[in-house]
Amino acid sequence: MPRRATKIVATLGPASSEPALLEQMIRAGVNVVRLNFSHGTSQDHIDRAALVREAAKRVGREVGIIADLQGPKIRVGKFAKGRVLLEPGQKFVLDAARTELGDVQAVGLDYKALPREVKVGDVLLLNDGLIVIAVDAVRGEAIHTTVKLGGELSNNKGINKQGGGLSAPALTAKDMDDIRTAVALQADYVAVSFPKSATDMEMARQLCNVAAAEHGHRPGLIAKIERAEAIPKLLEILLASDGIMVARGDLAVEVGNALVPGLQKRMIRLARDHDKVVITATQMMESMITNPVPTRAEVSDVANAVLDGTDAVMLSAETATGRYPLETVIEMAKICHAAEGHEDFKLEADFTGKTFKRIDQSIAMGALFTAHHLGAKAIVAMTDSGATALWMSRHLIQVPIYALTAKVTTQRKMTLYRNVRPLFIGTSADRDTALAEAEIYLKTRGIVQSGDIYAITCGEPMGAPGGTNMLKICQVS
Ligand code: PGA
Ligand code: MN
Repeated sequence: MPRRATKIVATLGPASSEPALLEQMIRAGVNVVRLNFSHGTSQDHIDRAALVREAAKRVGREVGIIADLQGPKIRVGKFAKGRVLLEPGQKFVLDAARTELGDVQAVGLDYKALPREVKVGDVLLLNDGLIVIAVDAVRGEAIHTTVKLGGELSNNKGINKQGGGLSAPALTAKDMDDIRTAVALQADYVAVSFPKSATDMEMARQLCNVAAAEHGHRPGLIAKIERAEAIPKLLEILLASDGIMVARGDLAVEVGNALVPGLQKRMIRLARDHDKVVITATQMMESMITNPVPTRAEVSDVANAVLDGTDAVMLSAETATGRYPLETVIEMAKICHAAEGHEDFKLEADFTGKTFKRIDQSIAMGALFTAHHLGAKAIVAMTDSGATALWMSRHLIQVPIYALTAKVTTQRKMTLYRNVRPLFIGTSADRDTALAEAEIYLKTRGIVQSGDIYAITCGEPMGAPGGTNMLKICQVS
């Protein structure tokens, strides 16, 4: 398999839960698996996580796990016949008080607060924006609307308000339970759906910390940017998180499709500038749910996310329920690899006007700069927390970064970092022994060969987080 810097996140589902297939998908390039907490019980998630860890073990490569929380369910209720066909121009009522099943005139609401959060003139989007209705009046618990864009509406489809403004809290009681499950199953990241502010992320962080005290494991936090309100608060949400997801599905419904590509670029740039990771998600290879090849537009979309500098590209239904989960991963890996060959990177420009006050961060930047100019074969970071590798990977560079760690949790966290290959190596208290062992390790894996130059960073005392204070440029004997 050719080297690829951009990581692939694949959502696990019925189409990808067969152990042999999952193993093949990992071999084909899946770096991180997303468990979707919108479906299944906590025992299901625990079983799925075990499945992922076992498949990864058979492949001999660590795979990260993201636990993606469901978030608030702003949805219509169920219909007597499962679905109705709404015609443009007709009247339709969303009624929070309705207990009987829905019909073509009215339907109940899962989200009971909705009548208090809309006003006359508001536009509501149902089923990912496929159906558009305008609010004519709100009477008690009933929202009276006119259908602007019709179509089939089936049970429990999502509701978005154009421009945002629904107040449902990001963390529901179910999400709070699910955070405990996620920490118990050693998820490497927890993704929070629909955060509106830093406070939402801080609350998730606190819940993770409480669970961490019990399970001795602390996941990273990803904020899914999918609400209109999150856009003006992007920086504060980012700073309260370890990373963000450009959650283009819900975001496009709230802000309009046309604004999403520009926002994607802005989010990726902002995340990298602030030493955070970023995942680009939703409909990347959508047609491969049913077709064995992607469309040209999908190929361009994935390639552009790579050129924007995303850490990872994500697959949702393509791998969860699609017909071609393995083929999708193979195609995506090929597109990433090809796009990376066209990266237009300017390392110097990236550094201009930046100051690095921390010793460890300065060492990381020094390694990057030196390796780039010397044409080194590899950059090697001996890291405990993964911070050195994260800093290095925030800059686009053609030299691959190998992160050697004695902590499997750090190794798994780094599966998401662009251009970082996380590797496990045992600890050694003595620095010179550790450096010699690292070189043997790199040589036996064919990463460096006799005559190659590589840059390696480490810290003394060995194995302490935040202690990186040494850069050595080596030529393999
Ligand atoms: P979802 O989030 O797949 O959980 O809805 C991603 C998105 O909205 O794009
Ligand atoms: Mn979403």
